[in-house]
Amino acid sequence: MWDTVDGMPVWQGGKTDWAAAAQAAENCGAFRADCEEECVADDDVSCYNCRFRRWTRDSFVCMKERCL
Ligand code: SF4
Repeated sequence: MWDTVDGMPVWQGGKTDWAAAAQAAENCGAFRADCEEECVADDDVSCYNCRFRRWTRDSFVCMKERCL
């Protein structure tokens, strides 16, 4: 599910792996919902809707280790 690039976890599923991103967030104790206008997934709990994800060109990086 994740690659490590420069020590940071990069999501392998790109920007449209909806089911896996929801499952990853359900299994993550650090999910925090982003503001409504930044949420892109229908699943309320999804890495795609998490305030700790930072979009890249092809996917996103999880910043929780730097933010918590
Ligand atoms: S983006 Fe990171 S902190 Fe947020 S739910 Fe996914 S794995 Fe957890």
